Amino acid sequence: MTFEELNLAPQIIEAISYMGFETASPIQEKAIPVAIEGKDVLAVAQTGTGKTAAFTLPILHNILQNKIKGTSTLIITPTREIALQIDRQIQGFSYFLGIHSLAIYGGGDADEWEQQKKALRDGVEVIVATPGKLLSHLNMDYAKTDKIQHLILDEADRMLDMGFLDDIKRIISKIPKKRQTLMFSATMPPKIEALAKQILQDPAQISIAISKPAERVFQGVYLTYDNQKTPLINHLIEDQKDYTSIIVFTSTKKKVGDIVRGLRNSKYRVEAISSDFEQSKREEIMREFRANKIRVLVATDVISRGVDIPEIDLVFNYDAPGNAEEYVHRIGRTGRAGAEGVALTLINEADMEKFDAIEKLIEKKVYRAPMPKFLGDGPEWRVRNKKNGKGKFSRKNNSPKK
Ligand code: ADP
Ligand code: MG
Repeated sequence: MTFEELNLAPQIIEAISYMGFETASPIQEKAIPVAIEGKDVLAVAQTGTGKTAAFTLPILHNILQNKIKGTSTLIITPTREIALQIDRQIQGFSYFLGIHSLAIYGGGDADEWEQQKKALRDGVEVIVATPGKLLSHLNMDYAKTDKIQHLILDEADRMLDMGFLDDIKRIISKIPKKRQTLMFSATMPPKIEALAKQILQDPAQISIAISKPAERVFQGVYLTYDNQKTPLINHLIEDQKDYTSIIVFTSTKKKVGDIVRGLRNSKYRVEAISSDFEQSKREEIMREFRANKIRVLVATDVISRGVDIPEIDLVFNYDAPGNAEEYVHRIGRTGRAGAEGVALTLINEADMEKFDAIEKLIEKKVYRAPMPKFLGDGPEWRVRNKKNGKGKFSRKNNSPKK
């Protein structure tokens, strides 16, 4: 869908084309019309789907169409970086629209504080702020908040993860009750639903779902040190005669050779496939794999998309896929056409953050499988506690009790 079809004001259309956007992304297509109508919105879509424009465009449109003056819009966002990004996007529009914005975030010096104070007093149209810093301004009496009629919570799930719930509530208590509220989030955990119930009125609910792994695929995770990975895979497949077709995925071409060498043995064939291979060689290997002449195929992501490989019994992720989509694609190679499948992911310490993010997106805590005794313990599950962005770690060992 084009932005013209979304009935945005001509100046906004002009600004959008200047930014190089040609068509609206799915979340924009759904959120913009309802937000223009003035409805509250609860929108859930993965990172990178264009949520920023999905809330800035309709709000700027409304400010323009209704000739709203003064500070009418407050955008709350978790970090300084995101605040700056949003501010920059709005600044890009201001050339065409004459609407100005100000980013308010922590860490600045006295000069910055004075600048922010002045802009708040003068009534800049759009404020983009992190919660803590905004509150310290609002606690003084110079900020003009009585005309705020649009409140946007961006990255709401992340703000709650960072412990901003109370700050957000305090901010809301300082702005008019009669307003339009838009809440955007990458995920929809129960605490987001609860907050939405409290602060949104009869919201339009929009959700752009990411594909989820098929239910019939059994998913497991092993927390492993790198030197435990190959012996672990060898151990897991050795006596499992039922698993005749096995794929081991890895993110880097460099590792393919090492993994193959580590898995080769006299009992069954182990081969590699990667984008470095000639097409004819790739096809030959795939043919032999399909014919069950090769039991274990070590692959980079070349074959995780599109290729129809029937009846894979077992998928290993030798390392964490880059993102949730990739994870879902990789494990989607097993459990096809109603067959049951197993997908096991090997996570070293460096990949824990990445896998934590994947679990959040697929909204599933994957089963932590215990390491076989002879390999010794793997590393503990350890992910950064996002609070304040500082390096606090939460330690949790999710292995079942031995
Ligand atoms: P999110 O907030 O959902 O993570 P962003 O709003 O930051 O996503 O957008 C991600 C990227 O996509 C940005 O670089 C943005 O400029 C770009 N983008 C957003 N909407 C469009 C569009 N309609 N067409 C092309 N690029 C877009
Ligand atoms: Mg965003």
